[in-house]
Amino acid sequence: MNTSSTITRRAALSSLAGALAAQPARPQVVQVTVLSTMLSGSFNGEWGFAAMVTVDGKRTLFDTGNRPETVLNNLREMKLDLAGVPEVVLTHHHRDHTGGLVTLRRDAMTRDPKAIATAYGGKGILLPRQPANDFVLIKGEYEATGAKLKEIAKPTQIAPSVWLTGPVPRVFGERNWSGSTRLRAADGIEEDTLPEDQAMVIDTNQGLIVISGCGHAGIVNTLTYARKAIRNTNIYAVIGGFHLFDANDEKLTWTAQQIAPMGITYFLAAHCTGVESTVRLRELLKLPPERMTIAQVGRRFESGKGILGARS
Ligand SMILES: [Zn+2]
Ligand SMILES: [Zn+2]
Repeated sequence: MNTSSTITRRAALSSLAGALAAQPARPQVVQVTVLSTMLSGSFNGEWGFAAMVTVDGKRTLFDTGNRPETVLNNLREMKLDLAGVPEVVLTHHHRDHTGGLVTLRRDAMTRDPKAIATAYGGKGILLPRQPANDFVLIKGEYEATGAKLKEIAKPTQIAPSVWLTGPVPRVFGERNWSGSTRLRAADGIEEDTLPEDQAMVIDTNQGLIVISGCGHAGIVNTLTYARKAIRNTNIYAVIGGFHLFDANDEKLTWTAQQIAPMGITYFLAAHCTGVESTVRLRELLKLPPERMTIAQVGRRFESGKGILGARS
């Protein structure tokens, strides 16, 4: 090998080493275990959502289910404990995501005073609603235990490579809500678009893992914003509720067209994504059942391994 090619090779190697060193260390193992959804296997099912998110061993609770006891009972049956889990993410104010918060906090604090003592809600979670924002009462009871709600107004990193989007901008006209509440604005009553709706995004070497509660902001808006705000890369896994249960075929076809280019490898659809809509979307996305299916309580996603646990 002549001298000039040796020098070129050395330069290339050193610039490669520099590029690798400049890359942030991303998580090695991400696990998401479903704790509340409608399909339940041998656990307790309900209309709601909750999951345990574990990133390189650090656990965070994501939403809290609907009924006060559902997630508590499922955790016990799974022999999981919220002691040692300091934080809980609340995607939005609806009771089917916040209903277990106080019960879980009161139970876990007897073993660990710091257990889920910090809750992250998207900005707007406390907005006055008509007929009522149930979460305002829940927040009062939660904070009476010495816990604290923090409102997230913009994309925020809560741990290395673990992000909350804060309120997801509504760029595309997805209308994914039931209209059961309305916002009480200063100049009258407005439609409640659930402006606080936020998702969790974990930035891994395989791509982004996006976890959603009810997806009121829309799956296209949410995934688009995750790539814009956190990292413009492929979506490795999509997990949770996306409020597509009542979507017609035109909307599902449009949705698939928008998200197909994002390179989704795994899709674990829970809660309000809906059974029929999940099956249709899977067909449109041309994903095999082992990579896209319906979540049930106890089912788990693990990076590098895929969707684990009993099939629905
Ligand atoms: Zn909701
Ligand atoms: Zn929901």
